Amino acid sequence: MRIDRITLTHVRIPLGEPFRISNGEVAEKDGIVCAVEAGGLTGFGESSPMAGSFYSADTPDSCWQQLTTSLAPALRGRAFATLDEASAWIDGQPGSNFAKVGLETALWDIEAQRQNLPLHRLLGATRDHAESGLAVGLYDSTEQLLSTIARYLPDGYKRVKIKICPGHDVDLVQAVRARFGDIPLMTDANASYTLAHRDIYKKLDEYGLKMYEQPLPGEALADSAILQSELQTPICLDESLETFADLERAAELKSFKIANIKIQRVGGFRNALRLYNRCRELGLSIWIGTMPELGIGQAQGAAMSTLAACDYPTDVEASSRWFRDDIIEPFLVVRDGNIELPQTPGLGYRIDESKLQRYQVARQVIDK
Ligand SMILES: [Mg+2]
Repeated sequence: MRIDRITLTHVRIPLGEPFRISNGEVAEKDGIVCAVEAGGLTGFGESSPMAGSFYSADTPDSCWQQLTTSLAPALRGRAFATLDEASAWIDGQPGSNFAKVGLETALWDIEAQRQNLPLHRLLGATRDHAESGLAVGLYDSTEQLLSTIARYLPDGYKRVKIKICPGHDVDLVQAVRARFGDIPLMTDANASYTLAHRDIYKKLDEYGLKMYEQPLPGEALADSAILQSELQTPICLDESLETFADLERAAELKSFKIANIKIQRVGGFRNALRLYNRCRELGLSIWIGTMPELGIGQAQGAAMSTLAACDYPTDVEASSRWFRDDIIEPFLVVRDGNIELPQTPGLGYRIDESKLQRYQVARQVIDK
């Protein structure tokens, strides 16, 4: 494939409710839509870091800068023999994973269209649906948390994930259990605890949770191994697993039992599949997380979640769960806790150009 033209559009869509985690809050969702044209086909990807850099150091502005000044101009005009060669080339460029992912995943869309396959089939899926889990943020009151869960449970979500942080943890889990009984439940601390908080996790062990996502800072793999050895409930790593080397080290230390693989965090499908395959070899459980992204990134997450070894539901939810609007047509919907994957070639969702224009912050075309 030869890359003829790349159109980058930074869009911003208001959230239906602010999304708050242990270290920050956003009220709008930024995404950079990457439309890549090659050989008469157009593929779409999304670069979707969290605004405010409280998940990682990447921001929409830093990714926009990298995409418009270096990554896209370097990719345009280049020819590759295979998708793998193109993905490896992008991976080897300077720049952050959150910027590269928009271009890399667009190439998978092009390749799937070229092979006349739905994206999830190109990725190796044998199923046509993804199981979806509900994720809820932190709220001012426990009642708000409970009413949010109650509002979405009728959609059949396969599990509930609540955000916790020091001072707001055991009481929240206890309240959810008291109101909703024995639902499949897990916590995500977004790295906000230290080993000094181990007794809190020992208390949480009494509530039969599915997993504890990222209790400790990303780099604290040795401490995570100590914590895991003292707990019944499996630890799931998210922020810790940026690279293949991180995965190897965490596995060797026994820092966790479950991997949350985010396509954005690892820079695209090629790296996500490498991590997925390695986790399989190591006998670790896997699921696919989201930031969340807008529709393109979410549809990609849903596609990857159909892979056979994804043992737990994804965080990908219905488009209407977070955003007042979305850029894909049709919207992602969750029925009985499942997202049905389209059977049309490529990503399988149309990108609505009128929405791109309505929510556009900036646009740049790289064609020479
Ligand atoms: Mg997480």
